[in-house]
Amino acid sequence: MVLLKQSLQQHVLSNNEDVWVWKQSEKEDFSVKSVRLHLGRNIDINVAPNSFYWNNWATAKSSAFVWRATDEKIPSAVALANRGMELQETSCKICGEGDEDAAHILINCNFARRVWEAVQIWTGLSMVNDVSNVYDLLKKTTESNKSRCKRKILHAIAIQTMWLLWRNRNDKIFSGRSRTVQMIIEEIKDASFLGVRQRSKHSSITKQQWWEFSFDL
Ligand SMILES: [Zn+2]
Repeated sequence: MVLLKQSLQQHVLSNNEDVWVWKQSEKEDFSVKSVRLHLGRNIDINVAPNSFYWNNWATAKSSAFVWRATDEKIPSAVALANRGMELQETSCKICGEGDEDAAHILINCNFARRVWEAVQIWTGLSMVNDVSNVYDLLKKTTESNKSRCKRKILHAIAIQTMWLLWRNRNDKIFSGRSRTVQMIIEEIKDASFLGVRQRSKHSSITKQQWWEFSFDL
């Protein structure tokens, strides 16, 4: 605090107008060429990019969340502790077992496992078998031996499931609200049904067909 005060007192403000500065170029002016040089310096082109499939049948919010989770960039207890936040403990608030990182909340937690089991019973596809991270879970849907449309649907369902597991975790921590596996699976079915109906060209699927996961695509 004292240091902050001192450095604020030492800082002299000028009357000049504010300007944007691009720090990657020596002259601090922005150019496409300097962006290209900067990216070229910072990206290792020999490493395959973490290719995340942006599925437009899922909401942008849930996709963005899962994209961040593939890199452990969601504010789990472990991530916050790694960023220097002083937490009393980093264990999972849902099951009480295991450290709470993205893979735990979305895959390994006992509660998440039960939700995925229900998703498997519904869709017929096991998404978490031998899977330890979010990226591999998504791959299970895109590499399954189903039609292209069904794979896209299964991928959207996986994204929806992870988003609702995260929302459930937040509601439990911040509002003390608990849901059952049954409640979550119904929310997953409802939300993914709406997404596919509204966003894809398959608007003829009925709710009953969706609920039974029996449609030919
Ligand atoms: Zn847990």
